[in-house]
Amino acid sequence: MKDKDYFETVEEVWDTKTLLAAYEVMRRLKLDRFAGVVSAGKEARVYRAIGRNGEEYAVKIYLTATAEFRKSIQKYLLGDPRFSGVDVSSTKKLFAAWARKEYRNLMRMYECGVAVPKPYLVYQNIVVMEFIGRSGLRAPLLQEIYSEIDVEEAREIYRQVVENYRRIYCCARLVHADFSEFNLMYLDGRVYVIDVAQAVAVDHPNSSDFLKQDVRNIYRFFSRKLGLELEEKQVLEAITNC
Ligand code: ATP
Ligand code: MN
Repeated sequence: MKDKDYFETVEEVWDTKTLLAAYEVMRRLKLDRFAGVVSAGKEARVYRAIGRNGEEYAVKIYLTATAEFRKSIQKYLLGDPRFSGVDVSSTKKLFAAWARKEYRNLMRMYECGVAVPKPYLVYQNIVVMEFIGRSGLRAPLLQEIYSEIDVEEAREIYRQVVENYRRIYCCARLVHADFSEFNLMYLDGRVYVIDVAQAVAVDHPNSSDFLKQDVRNIYRFFSRKLGLELEEKQVLEAITNC
């Protein structure tokens, strides 16, 4: 506890166990300090952390088991053959399983060349990954900047989105299951896919429904918000063309 920033980020949501887990993460990755909240969602918070040599990390901590979160466990975790044995009676174990799922999904995608934040560590309810941003500020989501994008740039972004999803599906053998402009970041002309905890293996019983929804989201965003001439069927074909 040597930095003012550190105290500023320790909020009431940090129970003792999370605090101890965060210390362990800092020790393992040789982190110097936490430097602010990037996002405070319903279930998870994302922090920016700084390493000893000034490098930045994104630290995602699962903190609240909302009713929606418990539903997600049913929908996305238990049907996944990789996680079917998880004990759902303990909230702590649920968070750990969910964090591990996010880490493993990130790793599988990263190894397939998908533009995701590089995963560094999972420990209990905490996932540490590459920070997507610059000068201490996170990159914008596509949802936040689409009105400034012209048709030519939109076509290039669409190309990247399709290529990333094709790798997720054909190489990582996963379906993202929450794919939309709200989970795509944009930095220096490059699209990054984030928020992959709910992604399921293609042999999950509902994976084709999740895929259809993802395709619909992509189709709607690029046709309605960015004005590209597209057909939904064409998007599905491009993604699943292994
Ligand atoms: P929410 O309910 O707010 O959408 P979430 O559980 O969906 O939260 P994410 O989408 O993974 O969590 O992250 C929330 C936000 O944190 C993102 O919209 C993005 O702004 C920021 N963020 C997530 N990962 C990173 C990262 N690796 N680098 C920089 N910012 C990030
Ligand atoms: Mn999100």
